[in-house]
Amino acid sequence: MRLFFRLLLPLTLTTQTWAAEDRFAAVDIKPTHVAGAIHMLEGAGGNIGLSIGDDGTLIVDDQYAPLGDKIQAAIAELGGDQPRLILNTHFHGDHTGSNPQFGRTGTIVAHDNVRIRLLTTANFPRTGLPLVTYDDDATVHFNDDTIALIHLPNGHTDGDSAVWFKHSNVVHMGDHFFNGRFPYVDIDSGGSIDGFIANVENVLALVPDDIKIIPGHGALASKADLQSTIDAVKASSASVRAGLSNGDDAADIAATLDQDYPGWGSGFINASRWVAIILADANK
Ligand SMILES: [Zn+2]
Repeated sequence: MRLFFRLLLPLTLTTQTWAAEDRFAAVDIKPTHVAGAIHMLEGAGGNIGLSIGDDGTLIVDDQYAPLGDKIQAAIAELGGDQPRLILNTHFHGDHTGSNPQFGRTGTIVAHDNVRIRLLTTANFPRTGLPLVTYDDDATVHFNDDTIALIHLPNGHTDGDSAVWFKHSNVVHMGDHFFNGRFPYVDIDSGGSIDGFIANVENVLALVPDDIKIIPGHGALASKADLQSTIDAVKASSASVRAGLSNGDDAADIAATLDQDYPGWGSGFINASRWVAIILADANK
């Protein structure tokens, strides 16, 4: 979404703001129990992971700023309080928008590049910045869980992490997983399609077969769902690359993708956008 906002915001700030308020007014935060102390919250933007227990409340990502109070209310409904820890899977605004609210009372933890990119985001409040960062992996001990923060280099962006709740047997994949859809790979922010695929395959090799997976976008998933999604990412990107090197027309390639992968191009990342990302990746 970052590029979209960068292009439109200066031109249509007032209209955009009103449209955004209308859009978020209609959003409900829907909780789904995942396992043990872990819930998933869906609203608008990236899915939120939530742990509530004896050590308090921890969240993974926090959607858009206008949803902060609704997210807090959903946490309270489940018996939680203000998050002590906020883990960010990456810097995009649909995953860090409520950082400034939750960061006033909790500690935000993320990869080094999340802080660097948020520092260069215009008008991003200081309370939304990660106070603790890491350059490779880190471990958080909370609510009787061992939570592995695993850096996924140069995939969706250059600052992504998977968040693996080892005891609960749950992993939040951030935007390395758009369940059953073509992904967004942010080439301008250090992303790469080959890196994206390698990162997902590394996580698949690491986690147990019966793990529950919170995707960045889409419904709660299994390891088989993540495997079939990355298989489609691999196969579709390979066929698009072959078509582009053949000199085929990008619009024709996108039309073929829509036939071969019905329903996979949706919303922000339709088939044409996926082709454009693959082209940008090849030219980077
Ligand atoms: Zn993202």
